[in-house]
Amino acid sequence: MPDRAKRVDLLGLSAEELALFLGGLGQPVYRARQVFSWLHRGAGLAEMTDLPQALRGKLTNLAAAGTLQVERRQTAPDRATKFAFRTSDGEIIETVLIPHRDRATVCVSSQIGCAFGCQFCATGQQGLVRNLTAGEIVSQVVRVQADTRPARVSNVVFMGMGEPLANYDAVVRAVRLLIAPGGLNIGARHIAISTCGLPEQIRRLAREGLPVALAVSLHASTDDVRTRLVPINRQHPIGEVISAAREYAGVTGRKVTFQYVIVPGLNDTPEQARRLAALIRGFPAMVNVIPRNPVDGSSPDPAAASRFAGALERLGVPVAVRQSRGAEVLGACGQLRGRVAGQREAGRA
Ligand code: SAH
Ligand code: SF4
Repeated sequence: MPDRAKRVDLLGLSAEELALFLGGLGQPVYRARQVFSWLHRGAGLAEMTDLPQALRGKLTNLAAAGTLQVERRQTAPDRATKFAFRTSDGEIIETVLIPHRDRATVCVSSQIGCAFGCQFCATGQQGLVRNLTAGEIVSQVVRVQADTRPARVSNVVFMGMGEPLANYDAVVRAVRLLIAPGGLNIGARHIAISTCGLPEQIRRLAREGLPVALAVSLHASTDDVRTRLVPINRQHPIGEVISAAREYAGVTGRKVTFQYVIVPGLNDTPEQARRLAALIRGFPAMVNVIPRNPVDGSSPDPAAASRFAGALERLGVPVAVRQSRGAEVLGACGQLRGRVAGQREAGRA
């Protein structure tokens, strides 16, 4: 068997690229559609029963149908489920399934670790290990969907481990694969990319022709406070970030969401609320106020978040308080750190 690491991950290829790859193996064009559909339903190569046996044999030597293995699965009392996946190079990444009535949202990771080191975020404390490939990003959704049937994964949010816009090419490729009609067929409008605020990449994303939702992790309305929470603010201060977000709204016609994690006593003052209201006046935007989830898994304090949201509301800002789910399994916003504690629990126990 050839080196596993050298095999092509078919889940990272578009239908057109798959057609070229299979064409190189002497296969007719319609095979690509067949294989693409199998792959995005989570099938392994051996399960693609309508392919000729000889082709399946060849593919097994040359290629992989996704590279992630389920390492562990934990479900919180609120039914949010955290998946730990093992990558082919032995790293762990985490993905969270948030079920709603008859559909589900999947929160995906875009990097192993993160280089940006935001003050309250467990992932940031780990530093950056590496970018994920498009295949690894898509594989998270495909594996979770295969596990959650019949609820359809209707939404994907890039709010797991890592900074999606620092892994731009793989993330945009993954979005195109997730919305492909022959695959998971998720609406681009139901995909959200959350960023700590990289202005150049926000502008570039605006021009991809993908109407994905943009969430900007603002967390403060003055540069001194924001720099303490989100160190990249030193290089890209609030003014630059807001102007890129305005451009995003202008080009895509989509409302921008600003994420605002409350750090009591620091970013929830009346002054911060007033400045925030002024910053986002005049373009389609809303604020998600999020109680900070302690990285040790203890309960967040929602009172400060409600107070701050109330202050914004009185200033005429569209606002919602978001309680993130899955805290009991360290699966809520900011708690993912990609380490499997305790014993190895192989997959589907
Ligand atoms: N790197 C991207 C996306 C991943 S983080 C970003 O920063 O936007 C997804 C969201 O979780 C961000 O809004 C982030 O600020 C928030 N978050 C991080 N740590 C958190 C914590 N401890 N409690 C609540 N939200 C947190
Ligand atoms: Fe990275 Fe986002 Fe965490 Fe900041 S909040 S450290 S950008 S994952």
